[in-house]
Amino acid sequence: MIAESLSQTRVLVAEDDTTSRRILETILHRWGLDVISVADGTQAWEVLSGADAPSLAVLDWLMPGVEGVEICRRLRRLVTDRPPYLIMLSARDTKADLVEALDAGADDYITKPFDLAELRARIGVGRRVLALQAKLASLNAELSHQATHDPLTGILNRGAILDLLERETARCARESGALSVAICDLDHFKYVNDTYGHQTGDDVLCEFVRRVEGAVRPYDRLGRYGGEEFLLLLPGLPASHGAQALQRVCEAVAADPFVGRDGTEFSVTVSVGGVAWESGIATERLLAAADEALYQAKDTGRNRVIYRSGLRGA
Ligand code: GH3
Ligand code: MG
Ligand code: MG
Ligand code: MG
Repeated sequence: MIAESLSQTRVLVAEDDTTSRRILETILHRWGLDVISVADGTQAWEVLSGADAPSLAVLDWLMPGVEGVEICRRLRRLVTDRPPYLIMLSARDTKADLVEALDAGADDYITKPFDLAELRARIGVGRRVLALQAKLASLNAELSHQATHDPLTGILNRGAILDLLERETARCARESGALSVAICDLDHFKYVNDTYGHQTGDDVLCEFVRRVEGAVRPYDRLGRYGGEEFLLLLPGLPASHGAQALQRVCEAVAADPFVGRDGTEFSVTVSVGGVAWESGIATERLLAAADEALYQAKDTGRNRVIYRSGLRGA
């Protein structure tokens, strides 16, 4: 049962004494662990600081090259959300040794000669800690995804796309780059909801996102700005190309009918207000100008792009 639950864990054994190392290799392997073993501290450091490092390590204190406690110290200086679980195994058996090893970053300490049952139990503790750590890391990743993405469409939410806009404009300023920014607002979307139902309205928002993403480049970013409003960032596209790219978006939405859950077909269009970033223009001003252009697109018949450039001169 324990051996089975240990089977996924990779463990490094670092021990310069050949007999001890062989014994450790054999028993850890027998307990179902995937064992890597090295005979000095330099190799141990290479393995533990390298890519795809084992999550658990049994480290001798006194070894040629880097000492076990020094390996603990170095590993704890690395920034990672998956730190390895480190067990020091040493003939040094005073309280001061134990304290020094734990202070250096060891998670546990076993004195030589070690008791088999104790080693097995302590490895079990390490495995439990590693499992909790892995669960926490995956929950963190999930929470951070939730905090930055729109649950309906899966794209970036308002906060995240605005953060990205700030980063992109800062990058443009640094690298003298180009950037087109657009607000896309679905036309008469209230009518879609009122006529075909809110659920179909939700489906339309998701299909809209698929069509837009299919019409832009992989590194262009679409975010949900508000209900049926989306913010589109087109890095590298100056005014000369931005308007064309947005025109393709507009056409991709209007080209084919949308299909409701009951098979009803209906057309959906989008109005787009686009602007070209220019150095010295604050993002608030950029967004306000895109919004003005959007209103103009709505006013002049919808299903169209109004693109503004030359903001700095305006
Ligand atoms: P216009 O062409 O002027 O933009 O008209 P419109 O009807 O699109 O604009 P309006 O602001 O009157 O209506 C927007 C509608 O979008 C109202 C709101 O209920 C709907 N909406 C906002 N978020 C969602 C959503 O998540 N799902 C659905 N189904 N509807 C939404
Ligand atoms: Mg030694
Ligand atoms: Mg709107
Ligand atoms: Mg609308």
